[in-house]
Amino acid sequence: MNNSELWRSVLAQMQFHISKANFATWFQNTEIISKENEKIIISVPNAFSKEWLSNKYNKQILKTLHDIDDSIKDLEFVIKPQPAKNAPQKSIIDNLERPEEIQLKFEEFKTNKETNLNPRYTFDNFIVGSFNELAHAAALAVADNPGFTYNPLFIYGGTGLGKTHLIQAVGNKIGDELKKKKVKYISSEKFVSGIVQAIRSNNMEAFKASLAPIDVLILDDIQFIAGKNKSQEEFFHVFNSLYEKNKQIILSSDRPPNAIAELEDRLRSRFEGGMIADVSLPDYETRLVILKQKVQEKNMDISEDVLDYIATNVKKNIRELEGALNKLLVYNKINQALDVEIAKKLLKGFIFSPFDVANYKKIIETVAKFYNLEEKNLFDPTRRKEIVKPRQVAMFLLRKELKYSFPAIARKFGGKDHTTAIYAYKKITQENEENNKLTEELNLIKQGIYSA
Ligand code: ADP
Ligand code: MG
Repeated sequence: MNNSELWRSVLAQMQFHISKANFATWFQNTEIISKENEKIIISVPNAFSKEWLSNKYNKQILKTLHDIDDSIKDLEFVIKPQPAKNAPQKSIIDNLERPEEIQLKFEEFKTNKETNLNPRYTFDNFIVGSFNELAHAAALAVADNPGFTYNPLFIYGGTGLGKTHLIQAVGNKIGDELKKKKVKYISSEKFVSGIVQAIRSNNMEAFKASLAPIDVLILDDIQFIAGKNKSQEEFFHVFNSLYEKNKQIILSSDRPPNAIAELEDRLRSRFEGGMIADVSLPDYETRLVILKQKVQEKNMDISEDVLDYIATNVKKNIRELEGALNKLLVYNKINQALDVEIAKKLLKGFIFSPFDVANYKKIIETVAKFYNLEEKNLFDPTRRKEIVKPRQVAMFLLRKELKYSFPAIARKFGGKDHTTAIYAYKKITQENEENNKLTEELNLIKQGIYSA
């Protein structure tokens, strides 16, 4: 495979992981320029792309490269400015097609130009389970009384778990029911580049004025603002002026405010001043419900055992779940004979991810073994120190490695109150920072979990 073929297949994979707009923005005019030993050198058009790709997609790109060619162990981005545009070149990404988008045009949804909201994201098609119920309840409350319930509303969680869906659902509900309210959804990258441009062209006042009439400002993936000092400063003022007028602010992030490094303290404390709620991973039952709902939404037919197979095996997040389903639906449309065997073949890439080898059983097993306990001891209702700590470590790892929700962890440990799980997670997190011995223990346990 030559470099351009290699890059082409990486791009083809990457587009499944990110939105079309993002994909076009960040991967336009990129290419592999060389391979030096185990390292791939990728050229990007500017510093902005470089920063963004290396912060956000480094791991994913490397993994994809490595999956294709396992001699590749490292990558580097270099800036290669584009020649002036007179004869527009057709880049690789213009030729790529997303199979599910081309073949599965079930329903066309257009983003609203005024609000930037996509009407496909509603509360009606948002499945609620213990993994997201707090976030859902908070979002509904905000939609019913924007500006006065929780301000800001801060939703965090891993990728593909429904943050964008949920915060857009709030916007859509307000837009439908309170027609006079002006809602605006902006991705944080767009927001930041808006600020940067405004600063550059000396138009900050106009930029701020354009935000002033907004009643509900929704900023997606706000962690993106971290480290961008000028943008944080301007956003701080925007935040305050909206907040003072009881305008609703809704934020999403891949982590809670206290875990966003390089976030100004005054912004952090603003973010923490409202409601913070997480979305985590759905369990098997919920995954099945989500699949059924998607099948119904698309008006398709797919057998129960195939759905069961997907729900059992595709665990990473809801976006992957949808991706897996779409892949099968495309097949099913052309060739009706979809069964579990075929599903197994088609879904290979969704299931055996090297980043997905930990599971509940391994964690319990490894923790018990490490502390010389029997597995059942971890569940003993005792306050003995020799048991309490290993139990807290197990809870911590279920959360940290598997993204279990706190209520789910509590249920696993004999229906304890979920605050016990939160307490265990916080305690171990804190000790991990202060206590080298614990850090070492955790590393060893993790090695055990991931090597088994
Ligand atoms: P995030 O913003 O957290 O990365 P998204 O909101 O983009 O995740 O969700 C990824 C996909 O999964 C979207 O297509 C979304 O509609 C779907 N999805 C996420 N959560 C749910 C849910 N609770 N019910 C139904 N679909 C969901
Ligand atoms: Mg999102």
